[in-house]
Amino acid sequence: MKADERMAILRGLPKIELHRHLEGSLRLGTLLELGKRYDLDLPLDSEASLAGLLTFNDDEPRTLANFLTKFRSDWCRSYKDIERVTSEAVRDASSEGIVHLELRFSPEHLTRTSGLQLDGAMKAVCESGIAAAAEEDISICFILTFARERYNYGAWTKTVDLGLRMLEMRIAGVDLAGDEFHHPNREFERFFQRVHDIGELGITIHAGEGTFPEQVESAIDSLYAVRIGHGIETARDEALMAKLGAGRVTLEICPISNFQTGCIDRLDQHPLPLLDRSGVPVTINSDDPAIHRTSINDDYDVAAARWGYTLEDLLRLERNAVAAAFLPEEERAELLLRIESGYQESRGQGI
Ligand SMILES: [Zn+2]
Repeated sequence: MKADERMAILRGLPKIELHRHLEGSLRLGTLLELGKRYDLDLPLDSEASLAGLLTFNDDEPRTLANFLTKFRSDWCRSYKDIERVTSEAVRDASSEGIVHLELRFSPEHLTRTSGLQLDGAMKAVCESGIAAAAEEDISICFILTFARERYNYGAWTKTVDLGLRMLEMRIAGVDLAGDEFHHPNREFERFFQRVHDIGELGITIHAGEGTFPEQVESAIDSLYAVRIGHGIETARDEALMAKLGAGRVTLEICPISNFQTGCIDRLDQHPLPLLDRSGVPVTINSDDPAIHRTSINDDYDVAAARWGYTLEDLLRLERNAVAAAFLPEEERAELLLRIESGYQESRGQGI
């Protein structure tokens, strides 16, 4: 099958996105406009000049350290800026065929240099995201991301408590991201013990992205993760794969991100198919599409073109995502129906 024909089919499939960062979803055109308005220290000649600095380019080192330099926290100065960027991120996700979006964002990132209040910034994301999702007829919920290198028990607890007051605004989970090498899981046990004890929010932890299987294991055992961001190092440990399969701990895998950050050397050697065959619940996600310069369909295309995944295989992964979504049971059932009927339309097609 020709690549463009396959991509057209993938675009038309209803998809679930469990792992997408708002901060990695900023349109270049919007960043250019905000950069000029706020006189940011960026190459503001054109979208192309901005892309040279703030997106991944093929000639760059494929390391997590390089990748993390792409994130800026100085682009927002008003709640309106946050609302605009969130609405655009939701519309972009919908245009890719995503029917349920779990958009994660860092309240600390949005307030670090903007002078905005935490609760106002969180409300801006949730209200604008919910409105855009309603217009696009997709479902949405939000995950609060905390960065390992910025640990502050008091500040993090305050943010979670604000989130707990916004459950009706679809805040549904807590995420830990950032530098796993220098900030291992044990530093965060007290915080996640508290989140777990409260019990209202799902816990997902970026772990085993390019580190060790033990990081995945301790994220489950000590931080109460029910989902793992990436977790591809699990493939090195058979007992751990069995544990994830038995406990239905779901991996949110982002293949192109794993390549660009140097966690894998070749996309056709990605461990997702091995994890999948071994009974680990795996899902396909996009991570930071604006920085990768991808859509989620590019990640699905890796599965179809490089791993030989069929529509049946993709539907199986989609069912994994439904089961792991941070949604109430009745919404998961609705979502499953929507996914199954969308795949029904493509039934019999090869990809
Ligand atoms: Zn991520």
